[in-house]
Amino acid sequence: MGRMTIQYDLHSHSLASDGTLSPAELVRAAAAAGVDVLALTDHDCVDGLAEARAIAIETGLRLVPGVEISVTWQAQTLHVLGLGVDAESPVLRQGLDQLMAFRDWRAEEIGMRLARAGIGGALTGARQLAQGRIVSRTHFARFLVEQGHARNVREVFKRYLVNNKPGYVSGQWAALEDVLGWIRAAGGVAVLAHPARYGMSASKLRRCIGAFRECGGQGMEVVSGSHTADQVSSMANLCRNEALLASCGSDYHGPENPWIRLGQLPPLPAGCTPVWESEQWRAH
Ligand code: AMP
Ligand code: MN
Ligand code: MN
Ligand code: MN
Repeated sequence: MGRMTIQYDLHSHSLASDGTLSPAELVRAAAAAGVDVLALTDHDCVDGLAEARAIAIETGLRLVPGVEISVTWQAQTLHVLGLGVDAESPVLRQGLDQLMAFRDWRAEEIGMRLARAGIGGALTGARQLAQGRIVSRTHFARFLVEQGHARNVREVFKRYLVNNKPGYVSGQWAALEDVLGWIRAAGGVAVLAHPARYGMSASKLRRCIGAFRECGGQGMEVVSGSHTADQVSSMANLCRNEALLASCGSDYHGPENPWIRLGQLPPLPAGCTPVWESEQWRAH
């Protein structure tokens, strides 16, 4: 018997950024979990998409080529998803190259700061764990856990990698309007990722969404693996009030996080227009 509804999971990571499954393994795992439509959205990188596409064709899963881009807006880091992007777009590629250069600089800085705090070899260790071109804080965190500096990744973040801790490096990611321009140039739909996770006040979040929409942003994640049930309902209200499209995604990074599973997401609350029912989406 067929299922009544199509299962969407529009936010996931592979080894091309800070996930732990290869793009092929990720797509196979999603298909096995009953996901019909999967977006691969690696951080600042589209390198995993070709491999994911090939396996998606094999398994009958529909792959949405995506990316999760790091933005600095009013001293705050935001993540913006580009869904349905053309990975070959020169504008997008050039933008992501800039972010890559910032990441490489930042990784060296993090390594130096951790060395000053008495932890040597972190840059080399993080680079070894990063199998793609992206070196993220997650790779540093995994290395520090391996070296016994903390019991788990969460603890490393808390003790070393966030603001005011020894391995934290502040800096500028891309500007919101630039990133929305790259996504537009690549033919994608821009969705603000996990808006409840930024710790912004309700009024700042409304301003943020206002700026996002003015720059051409179209949707926001209402249902996210990193939102609580309460946050899902408050984000649904915000989404309806701001007349944005609603998206849902697990933000899956691999089986090491057993509390986040591919495709295991609650339905979008009533009154939210799913991003996949929009004109922009149908155009793909
Ligand atoms: P980066 O883009 O290199 O600054 O790394 C950000 C990534 O680190 C996010 O995408 C998450 O996967 C991970 N991350 C951020 N904060 C935490 C946290 N508190 N615990 C575990 N992982 C985190
Ligand atoms: Mn991540
Ligand atoms: Mn994110
Ligand atoms: Mn993510």
